[in-house]
Amino acid sequence: MKTKIIKINKDNILPDQLEQAIKLLQNGGLVAFPTETVYGLGADGLKEEASKKIYEAKGRPSDNPLILHIAHLSALSELTKDCPEIGYKLAEAFWPGPLTMIFRKSEKVPYSSTGGLETVAIRMPSHPIAYELIRQSKVYIAAPSANISGRPSPTKAEHVIEDMDGRIDMIIDGGNVNIGIESTIIDITGEVPVLLRPGYITVSMLEAVIGKIAVDKAVLATTPDPSIVPKAPGMKYKHYAPKGQLTIYEGSSEAVIQAINENAREKQELGFKVGIIATDETVSSYDVGTVKRIGSRNDEDTIASRLFDILRSFDKEGTEYIYTESFESNQLGQAIMNRLLKAAGYHKVSV
Ligand code: AMP
Ligand code: MG
Repeated sequence: MKTKIIKINKDNILPDQLEQAIKLLQNGGLVAFPTETVYGLGADGLKEEASKKIYEAKGRPSDNPLILHIAHLSALSELTKDCPEIGYKLAEAFWPGPLTMIFRKSEKVPYSSTGGLETVAIRMPSHPIAYELIRQSKVYIAAPSANISGRPSPTKAEHVIEDMDGRIDMIIDGGNVNIGIESTIIDITGEVPVLLRPGYITVSMLEAVIGKIAVDKAVLATTPDPSIVPKAPGMKYKHYAPKGQLTIYEGSSEAVIQAINENAREKQELGFKVGIIATDETVSSYDVGTVKRIGSRNDEDTIASRLFDILRSFDKEGTEYIYTESFESNQLGQAIMNRLLKAAGYHKVSV
């Protein structure tokens, strides 16, 4: 399949620029497009054959449900059953934006989009290209991240091209995304809302609107525990992983720097290609392999936005061992560490 690649300026979408993408989506095709979180791989979420193509293109396990993207609140009454009041409260506070909510699904939503579940994940994105695509096509776009299953999510069009060229109909290049990690997911089908995946919208931001929420055990796990089955099926797969072996070091800054330098040097002397993820504060303290700067420790937004790009660039350079500092915090750091732990296959060393 020949993949058409078009460039669109998100701040100046010209009339008719989205026309081809809209036609493709309306006819069951696959279109990758930028959102404010990561690039999505979209198809008509209410058409069984269309959403099936997403699974094929990504190599995604069929029990891993998709997120449906909407542009109007009225879609909630069409796609959900017994939509709870807090759904509207959260929508008012965070939509359009990087929050996905889990609702009971209506008959309209096919099981092919929900991985066989009775629930459906819904988000209203704020990115102008994503938003306009949904609004103008009038298609509820099912869109997981536009990467091959298991790889780091795409935060720029080049990442999507790497993974999806030749597999899908179109890629819309709208430049770099702004957030760089996937949406926060909250399940509001039960008595107490449960956070299933941390993201840009943090627990404290959610609690400021709806009061105390619970956090799924799988989100809090710091070691792989087969007895914990995550409530978001996608969170059980090895994910976001670079090809090299990633290890996270936590402890005092000096101890971490020393341990990373020592371990990286050891591997390098054995002939392996090594890489280090450093912060602005520590970058000059590392003296082995390729050192990449992820941003200042005080600027979690920048760290989040660069994480997947850095992991992918190590892949491109053939890096075999990657070492990173830890970014624990109770704000965005929760989402950063959640992705980093999975990318590392839970390889974390305390020093
Ligand atoms: P992605 O868009 O690739 O980030 O994947 C969508 C995420 O949403 C996956 O982790 C899914 O498991 C999760 N998800 C989608 N629908 C549901 C649902 N009905 N219940 C729980 N998690 C869901
Ligand atoms: Mg994904």
